[in-house]
Amino acid sequence: MKGNNDMRRPLVAGNWKMNGTQEGVIELIDGIKSGLDGINVEVLVCPPAIFIGLVGARLEGSKVKLGAQNICQQPESGAFTGELSAAMLTEFGCRYAIIGHSERRHVYGESDKLIAERVAAAVAGNVTPIFCIGELLEERENGTTEQVIAQQLDAVLNLDNGIVLLKETVLAYEPVWAIGTGKTASPEQAQAVHAFIRSHLAKQDEALAAGIKILYGGSVNAANAEKLFGMPDIDGGLIGGASLKVNDFLAVCKAAG
Ligand code: PEP
Repeated sequence: MKGNNDMRRPLVAGNWKMNGTQEGVIELIDGIKSGLDGINVEVLVCPPAIFIGLVGARLEGSKVKLGAQNICQQPESGAFTGELSAAMLTEFGCRYAIIGHSERRHVYGESDKLIAERVAAAVAGNVTPIFCIGELLEERENGTTEQVIAQQLDAVLNLDNGIVLLKETVLAYEPVWAIGTGKTASPEQAQAVHAFIRSHLAKQDEALAAGIKILYGGSVNAANAEKLFGMPDIDGGLIGGASLKVNDFLAVCKAAG
């Protein structure tokens, strides 16, 4: 385990985004299930919400875990059109939710404050947040990557129970310029930010910093996964495009093992 820490067992999470048909989803999940023998990592799939029930039923008895692509900041029922609560997700076996993905931040305008509320609601409802953070290209180019990452982290860290929440959270560092673009951060670039994240958290709580799982995301594929996952502070990946093809996703899972 990274840092001799059992909590940091590698995790590979597939973010299927808004892709798939009933037939395609069944083919994908059956292919993933049947190819995982001998691959010793945690595997998670996050289908579009409409397929959560279908995929959950197909995953019964399998080690593959189920997640959602977002979660409402309100844990129970209410007037939140278009949203899904933690209670709804857990009823269908969803124990993870991606929160603060760059597409939610930049296409739908979700703020740091809203994202922090979503993280809190997930933890309160027994759903593990996959809390995404990452800088835009212009922020990297003007040298403010660490400032941006710190601000995104602080939105949760500075809540009254921020440290407790982050102890129940998986982080995903996803440089926005690398998502879906085919441009990956080099292993060294990714490692530098992951190390910064741990050092930032360590100022508040060393155990949190050492134990938190931090995934890398951004054009991870079968060819680049092994080097990225070999870096000391990278504990697996959040995978978009390559999670939609059985063989590519299995190769990435294997690289994490
Ligand atoms: C993502 O959507 O989180 C992602 C990392 O996508 P891709 O792997 O396609 O860059």
